[in-house]
Order: sequence, then C-alpha cells, then structure tokens
Amino acid sequence: MFGVQLKWSRYPDGVEVVDLGGPSIPLDAMEIENPLKTKGKWFCAKTATREVYQLTLADLEDTLLIKFINARTDNQRCSFIARYGIPGFREDDHFLIQYGRVIGFQSRLLELLESTDIDAFNNNWHPTGNTYKAYLVRGERGPEFVFRAAGLDNYMCTEAAFSITNGAELFRCNHCDDAFLTGPLTWRRSHAKYCSDRCRVAAMRLRNKSQEKA
Ligand SMILES: [Zn+2]
Repeated sequence: MFGVQLKWSRYPDGVEVVDLGGPSIPLDAMEIENPLKTKGKWFCAKTATREVYQLTLADLEDTLLIKFINARTDNQRCSFIARYGIPGFREDDHFLIQYGRVIGFQSRLLELLESTDIDAFNNNWHPTGNTYKAYLVRGERGPEFVFRAAGLDNYMCTEAAFSITNGAELFRCNHCDDAFLTGPLTWRRSHAKYCSDRCRVAAMRLRNKSQEKA
C-alpha cells in the first residue's frame, strides 16, 4: 500500500489581502507572475512566522480540496491559506501568491472534480505541477512507503483524482450552498442534501418556522 502525503507550510499569524493597485493578472493566466510585486492584489502573510504541517490522504471525509472550493469570501480564503498554506510554490517574502491565481485555481479544481473525461482530467492536472517524491517514513507499525506531493496544489488534485476513482459525487448543500462529496470514503449518504448536521437542522428550523407562519 502506498500513501500520499503533504508536507507544507502555514501561517499561524494569519493572512490578509493587500491591494497594490493597478491591473491584476487575468484569472486564467495561472503561470504568469509579477516578480516586482508592484501591482495587483496579493495574499500576504501578516508576519514572517511559518509552521510546517503534515497530512496523509486517508479518506474523503474532510478534504482540503472541498474546504478550498468553499472559501468563497476573501476572509475564508485568508483563513484557508493561513491554515493550509498557498496552492503554489513557496516564496521567501510575505507576498505569498497573487489573488487571481488563487481564484483561478479554485475554479480549475472545481472543473477537475466535475470532469467525466479522463483525458480532460489529465490535461487539466499536469500544468499544476503533478509530481511526487517517494520516501520511507516512520509509521505506527514500522516503516511506510509514501509519495509526498510536490505542494498543496498537487495534493488537492490528488484528492480530486481519489474522489473520482472512488466514485464520490459532488453536491451543493441545500441550505448554505457549500460543495460537499458523498458516497464511498466520505462517510455521507449518497443522497445527502445537506453538507452537515448543522445545516440539516437549520433548514428544518426554517421549514418549521415558515409552517408556523402559514
Ligand atoms: Zn451546508
């Protein structure tokens, strides 16, 4: 058995959006960088503090991929990056990643997850740096063989591939509109309408309230 691991950096003091003015890069131009950092919107770390964390892909219950897709406000995107790092290469200063790249990658991941065609999936995945390094690591029951994803972006694409090969399905919550996966390895019923018990209960309360009024 092989596992896929992620070893990446996060920003425990938080992340913010900094707008330097001028045009931002187009959303679909994932590869374009602005090395001078004089223009556009950026996600920036609030301090130089970084913390390394590690994850192993085990199931589809609580994927980074879905958390990332559901980060639809800038506050949510900043919290995601503070907690899990940037979906791209690491930089040495606090200008972490261009705003447009994050938005572009969010929609690209959603496309990946929704692809029904294997060639389209592969074509979409490869430009994001689809590489791994193999290691032996100390596991609970002795040495384990793992592939470490080159970065957070590749790890989330791996989750998308894992989701497709396991027959998980993507749905939107009837209450909060968040995306969620159902089916094998998600520990959710395959016809779930809500992302969580909290949303299921909230929707039920709303229904009851409107019935009381009627
Ligand atoms: Zn919900």
